[in-house]
Amino acid sequence: MKIIDKLKNTKISISFEFFPPKTEEAEKTLFETISNLQPLNPTFVSVTYGAGGSTREKTRDIVKKIHEETNLTVMAHLTCIGHSKQEILSILDDYKKIGIENILALRGDMPLNFEKTDIPSDGCKHASELVSLIRENYKDYFCIAVASYPEGHPESSNLEREILYFKKKVEAGADFSITQMFFDNSYFYEFLEKCEKAGINIPIIPGIMPITNFNQIKKFASLCGATIPEEVVQKFEKYADNPEETKKIGIEFATLQCIDLIKHGAKGLHFYTLNKSDATIKIYENIKDYLA
Ligand code: FAD
Repeated sequence: MKIIDKLKNTKISISFEFFPPKTEEAEKTLFETISNLQPLNPTFVSVTYGAGGSTREKTRDIVKKIHEETNLTVMAHLTCIGHSKQEILSILDDYKKIGIENILALRGDMPLNFEKTDIPSDGCKHASELVSLIRENYKDYFCIAVASYPEGHPESSNLEREILYFKKKVEAGADFSITQMFFDNSYFYEFLEKCEKAGINIPIIPGIMPITNFNQIKKFASLCGATIPEEVVQKFEKYADNPEETKKIGIEFATLQCIDLIKHGAKGLHFYTLNKSDATIKIYENIKDYLA
């Protein structure tokens, strides 16, 4: 089923992101995570795609397995950087053949040592071109999601320009968007206001990254340009040597973040699970009364 149709009939959507595991053991853990999260009745789950196509087969295999072995609606991430249009179309043909209807269309992060000149001449430079390619070739078969950045994208000069490019993705045919992680909701609220003013009216679902390992999340946040407010940094640094306490305050922080988002009318919450279920389940338990 198309996610956009499910979103229309869902008050507040809950969804989970997974990444393709590298080993058999890690795959087993992922499917345990999926079965733990399934009772939360997510609107959809999604599977990431390695930069430059590095997980092309694995992403496809995990997406197929979730689609065939669970009753979950699954979305495949697809990045265009490094692929020719022909390659992209063959990936999409395959997804269509196995019954996948939801694609998160991304440019992708530049792989290490990748130059802009390495983009195949018949490739897509930006996610908006990927969205157009999908719409031109498959009309409305796929529901298409795109990424958006409440604090701007690290490569863009300012938020206004970022919103212009976001609008291009919407005009090319994107159905909804999931945001980059953020830790200060005011960025999200200001972003929504600016998007509305710019005439962007697709659902924008906030991406939630529960902090369970502060150093790891600090690194992710700095790579993608997400601000961690100073008081939050101080709170976590105080417990740098205490993983249990870190997890506890991480769950508390994400719970309050989610409740505030729901109170401000968020249409959904997309959890970056890192293939683990316990923090997400605890946050869900804490917020479930607000979801009804
Ligand atoms: P674009 O929308 O193409 O934007 C990339 C940059 O180019 C931005 O700075 C933008 O301002 C600029 N830009 C856009 N259009 C134009 C234009 N016409 N002219 C000039 N500049 C332009 N990465 C992965 O590798 N795999 C994943 O599975 C993955 N999943 C993600 C899921 C979510 C929800 C999010 C938020 C990000 C994800 N990413 C993933 C990261 C993403 O690939 C990177 O942030 C990447 O650098 C940008 O991808 P994009 O689709 O937003 O690109």
